[in-house]
Formats: sequence, C-alpha cells, structure tokens
Amino acid sequence: FAYIQNELGVSLNKIQKQAVTQTEGAVLLLASPGSGKTTTLLMRIGYLVRELGVHPSRIKAVTFSRASANEMKERFSRYFPGQHAQVQFSTIHSLCFEIVREHYRGEPDSFQIIEGGIDQAGVRSASPDQPPLYKQAILRHIYKSINGEPLTDDQMEELTTYISYVKNKMLSEDQWGAVKVSVAQAERVLREYETFKRTSHSCLLVDYDDMLTLANDLLDRHPALLAAYQERYDYLLTDESQDTSLVQHELISKLVKRHGNLFVVADDDQSIYSWRGAEPEYLLHFRDYYPSAEVLFMEQNYRSVPVIVNTADRFIRRNKQRYDKRMYTENEDEGAIHIHTAADSRAQAAYLVEELRSLDSDQLASSAILYRNNASSIAMVHALDQAAIPFYIKDMDNRFFSHWVVEDILNFMRMTFTDKRADLLHKIHLKMNGYISKQQMAALLSIDNQESVFDNLLRHVPLKDYQIKPLEAVRDTLREMKGMPPLPAIRVIRERLGYDKGLDKLCEWQGHRKDNLNEILGTLEEIAGTQESMESFAARLKELEAALKTSKRHRQDQQLLTLSTFHSAKGLEFERVYMIDLMDGMIPSSEDLKAYSSGDEGRMEEAVRLFYVGMTRAKRYLELISCRERGGEKTGESRFVSHVRSLLQPEQAASSAEGSVNSAAIRPGDSIKHRSFGTGEVTGVNGDLVDIRFAQELRTLSLRVCLEMGLLEVLST
Ligand code: ATP
Ligand code: MG
Repeated sequence: FAYIQNELGVSLNKIQKQAVTQTEGAVLLLASPGSGKTTTLLMRIGYLVRELGVHPSRIKAVTFSRASANEMKERFSRYFPGQHAQVQFSTIHSLCFEIVREHYRGEPDSFQIIEGGIDQAGVRSASPDQPPLYKQAILRHIYKSINGEPLTDDQMEELTTYISYVKNKMLSEDQWGAVKVSVAQAERVLREYETFKRTSHSCLLVDYDDMLTLANDLLDRHPALLAAYQERYDYLLTDESQDTSLVQHELISKLVKRHGNLFVVADDDQSIYSWRGAEPEYLLHFRDYYPSAEVLFMEQNYRSVPVIVNTADRFIRRNKQRYDKRMYTENEDEGAIHIHTAADSRAQAAYLVEELRSLDSDQLASSAILYRNNASSIAMVHALDQAAIPFYIKDMDNRFFSHWVVEDILNFMRMTFTDKRADLLHKIHLKMNGYISKQQMAALLSIDNQESVFDNLLRHVPLKDYQIKPLEAVRDTLREMKGMPPLPAIRVIRERLGYDKGLDKLCEWQGHRKDNLNEILGTLEEIAGTQESMESFAARLKELEAALKTSKRHRQDQQLLTLSTFHSAKGLEFERVYMIDLMDGMIPSSEDLKAYSSGDEGRMEEAVRLFYVGMTRAKRYLELISCRERGGEKTGESRFVSHVRSLLQPEQAASSAEGSVNSAAIRPGDSIKHRSFGTGEVTGVNGDLVDIRFAQELRTLSLRVCLEMGLLEVLST
C-alpha cells in the first residue's frame, strides 16, 4: 500500500485508508472541502486495480460535468501513470446516452437529440447528418405562440431551469404547476414542448434532461437492458454527489443493485445546484437506500492555510441547513485573505492586471479569477488581453457578443456611416427618440431608392406633425456623430438619441433586468474607452470574441491564469484565488435577496455555499474584490464580504462583546426598533452581522455599530 502514498507524496489518513480499502458494499464519505475526497476516490480506484486486480473496464466513475470528468481522468493518470487508461470517467449524461443508444441500437433513426441546455454534459447528436434542432429555438416558438410576445433571454434562462428542475425531480405532470416560476404560462409551454418532442418528427426528440429520465425509464421497463448494465460494472463511484438529483440517484441505485458496490463522495456545504433539481437531502437518507452502508466523515483540510480554513469554516456556519462539521487544518504555512474595493469594474480589472503582472508564469498558472456570472469575464478578458497576460477560460460564454444590446449599439454606429439602410433603422427605431408607426416603417422598408432613410421618411411617408421634429433631430445627431470616438458616441446614443429611455420602456414591457443591460453597456463603454474609432471598436469586439474562443481551447497545463465561474471551479484548487464582483445584487443575487426578504431562506443559503466553494479553492492567498458601482449604479459590498471582514477582525468583535449591551442580548426572533429603519424582527445573528426584517425590506447590519451607536432598542424577546 505504501506505493500509493509515495506516488501521491502524502500519506493517507486513517479514514482515507478505510475508504480506500473497504471496497465491498456502499460507502458514503461526507467531508469538508480540501479534505481529500477526490484524492481518496482516485486512490480507491488505483487500489481496486493494482491491489485487487480488478479490470479497469469494470469500474465506472461518474461525475456531473464533462470538465470534472476530464479533470478526474487527468489526476488519475498523474497518480497512476500509464496502464489504466481503461477506467471510465464519464458524466451521468453520457452514461444515460449510452443506455438510450444501446436500447435503440437496432433502430438508429428512432430518436434525435435536441441541442442546447446542459452543454457541458458531453453528449453528441445521435446522427451527424440530421440538421441540429435547438431547444431554445423550439421553446421560443412555443412561448410566442402561447403568449403572443417573444421570450427574453432572462426568461429563457428561467424557463430552461424550470424544465431541468421538473425533470431532475421526476415530477409528474400534475406537479408541474406547483413549481414556482415567473415565466408566463411556463407549465403550458412545457406541456406543449413535451408534445412537440413526441409528435413533430418521425422519431422521438430527446433533450439533455430527457436523457436522464428516458434512461431511467428504459431501465425500469426493460429488464434485459437493466441486467446488461448491472453486469457491466462491478464498482461505481460518484464524486460531488451533493449535486446529484433524484433521477440520478435512482439510476445509480439501479445500476448497483446486483453488488451494491457504490462509493459516494459528498459535501453538503458545497451543494450549489439545487436550483436545477439537485437533492443533497438524499445524503441524509443514504442508509434508507443502502441499509448496511458505511458512513465516514473527514474534517481535516489539507489544501489551505489556517486563515483560509478557519475563516471559511466560521463563514459557512451562518447557514442553518447543514450537517454540523468543524473544518480544521494542521497546515502551518503563512497565507492571507485580502479585501479590496474598486471604484468600478474597469478599476477592478486594472487593479487585478497590476497584481498579476508581478507574478511569474508558474505563479500565474496557479492563480484563478472567479466570479458568479459569466458576464463578469468580458471586462476582465479585455484587460488581460490588452496587458498580454495569458489566460484560460473555463466556461466560455460568448453570448455577450451576440446580445441584442451590443447589436443595437453597433447598429446605431452603423447608422452614422450610412443612413440609407432602412433595415438598420427598423432594428432600432423602437429604442430611440422619435415615433415611427408600424405602417410607416413598412412603407419605408418598401422604398428602394438608395436615399437617406430620414429623407425618405420626411418626403415619402405621411408623418404627423409631431413626428417630424424628433426624427430630424435624430438624423442630425447621427450625422454629427460621424467620426466621433466610440466612447462619446455611446454616450450620445444613450442620452441624446434616447436609447436609455427606450430600454426603460422595454424593461417595463418585457421584463428585462435593467441592471444586466446596464452592465452590458458599462462593459461596452469600457472597451470603447480604449479605442480611437467606431470601426476599431467594432473590430475590437470581434477580436475579443475570437480571443475568448481560443482561450477556451487552451489547456490548463499551459502556464495560464484560470478564469472561471464559482460553479465550474468546484473541486479545483489554486495557490491564489481572486473572487471578483462581490456586490450585494451579484452574490447574493437580486433574486436571492428578493426571495430572502419574502421569507425564503433556501436561496440565500445556496448563495452562501457558492461563496464558500469560491473561498475554499484558495490554498494560500484569497482576495475578495467588490466594486462601488456597477453599470452606472451605486452598489454595496456583498454582505458575505462584510461577514468575512468581521471574521478577520476578532479583536473588534471581542471588544463589542464586552460593550454595555453585548451581542448575546440580541437573538433571532427578537422584536427591535432601529432609530432610522423602524421596527423589525431579528432573523439571524452571525458574529458581527445581524439580519433584521423590517416592514419593507430585509437588512444586514453591523451589530457592533448598532450597539455602539445605540441604534437598536429591544422591544420584546
Ligand atoms: P473539494 O471538496 O474541494 O473537492 P476534496 O475533498 O476533493 O476537495 P482533494 O482535492 O482530494 O480534496 O484534496 C485537496 C488537497 O489535499 C490536494 O492537494 C491533495 O493532494 C491533498 N491531500 C489529500 N489527502 C491528503 C493527505 N492525507 N495528506 C496530505 N495531503 C492530502
Ligand atoms: Mg473534490
């Protein structure tokens, strides 16, 4: 057994050894971040193969994204170089795909895959010669036919999440209506989508979510298929199982029925996919499924320096829905957590570029910039690219570049070069000053004389008097803009041409999120600020889009800085981690805050776990960065950052505890009166943070300040 330890360069602890060697039957390993869960899982596979002579093809390790399947494979071949290439590390979706394909083997044209959805799942179309069908296009079509208006991107995201949720929870049709979703007629859209998949083509259409339910269903209905799969593997292992959904649990438990050799690794504090139907509660009931299961716990963190381990451990305690664990470390190295506030996202990017410039390529390769939303990466990518800092982006999302706001701005700019294209005006006319009716627009589009669209409007289309002046003003402004640098041009578009006002109206009608749109405009302005002309601005956008695509193809082992969302960074570790855009409204998101203030704490707890996942990626250095402004609007530092700040200031917290009214005097459930905010109820106290629900909103206040300033009065306890 010693060789395993030597190759790893560490010696397994007692629990790890037990988890590695107790190969028969079900084992649940429930443990803190960085405690060696994944390491143990890989060692167990190595042990099965090398010590017990199990053939690698009899082992299946299941993960929930293609990226983590690849990472695991890489790590495994580092630990056990060479001969064990046959161990299968695959995603649950590709396992399901295999099952579905096997079932329909004799009839290759019996189903077709719909692209879109969980695209990291690693499943390819059944038959490459069929034209691809896109889930989003189908949903858009159905939504429009039901509601009469187009589906916005935000609604699309919510709708696809809703569908994934329903499928992963295996909800029956009569339960679909009970799921909270704000997209109009979501349930009906889903019902029609299901019908469409069954009836619109000569074969069955299957999307990624269906892959799971369909495979599960086929195993239920076809004993021979089930038996074949039960025969295929002697050992199943799943990592990150806190993110497993009900249908996934069901599948796995069917596959191991014959032998019960299942190794499940999980950390409930890192459950970050419940919005998509993951069911960490299942870990609580593990013994109901596997009565003789061994349940093991580990709390020692080998990854991070003490300040990170201890702060993260105290941070996660603000959650109530969790197994009580106490993460600790015996690591002795020095390290640090820094908190930085930047003026805005441009300043944030500039600050990071400065910090990263001082790193050599090895250091760069062991650093990561993490964020909640992909949108945060665009400004960063622009700055890194300009500073020639090489990076690798984990989950590239170039939707930014095709977003309609970006298109609008470019169309306005195109209009300054030529105002002869009615099609351009058609695309933007509802979002600028000056009214043009539908009929007038149609009349304009039918004129084909190579003249200025404004001249055509004014000469050949009957306009009402009140329409003329604003349209002339638009025409003149666009002409004045010719040759203007892109940043002032965007300002003119937003203000003088009325684009901002147009967006306000759209937000009202179509439910877009204004802060998201502002963020996109802010990013465009940042990029524009570095360019001389509108042409070079447009070219820069193309260049960035291309840079993003290439960076996706880069590999992690090329000495590159990593950029990733918190979600995709799960399971990874870096010497230095920079978490950016940490504002209230981002993490927790405005939806989390809304849910929280209406009494739903689940979402907030998930945001806490997501933040915790981010923190626990750092081995030695962790930096938390927020901006005072986002998309032109003032923003506040994330309450999670404030919490960490309070945890890093033990002296102050201690001295406040000795004050005249100490923190113990305030408890959840107390009614209080705040000097400015009025009466409210205390919903939580965490160190220096106190959450209070006032009539209008929920606020997190500094207990120390409240007590020192005498802001709070306890009414009843
Ligand atoms: P996460 O929850 O973030 O996925 P994990 O529990 O899977 O974390 P690993 O990634 O397996 O943790 O291990 C974290 C780090 O600790 C790795 O660098 C690994 O090499 C190291 N490690 C694991 N076990 C030991 C040990 N017994 N002694 C020393 N180092 C160890
Ligand atoms: Mg892990």
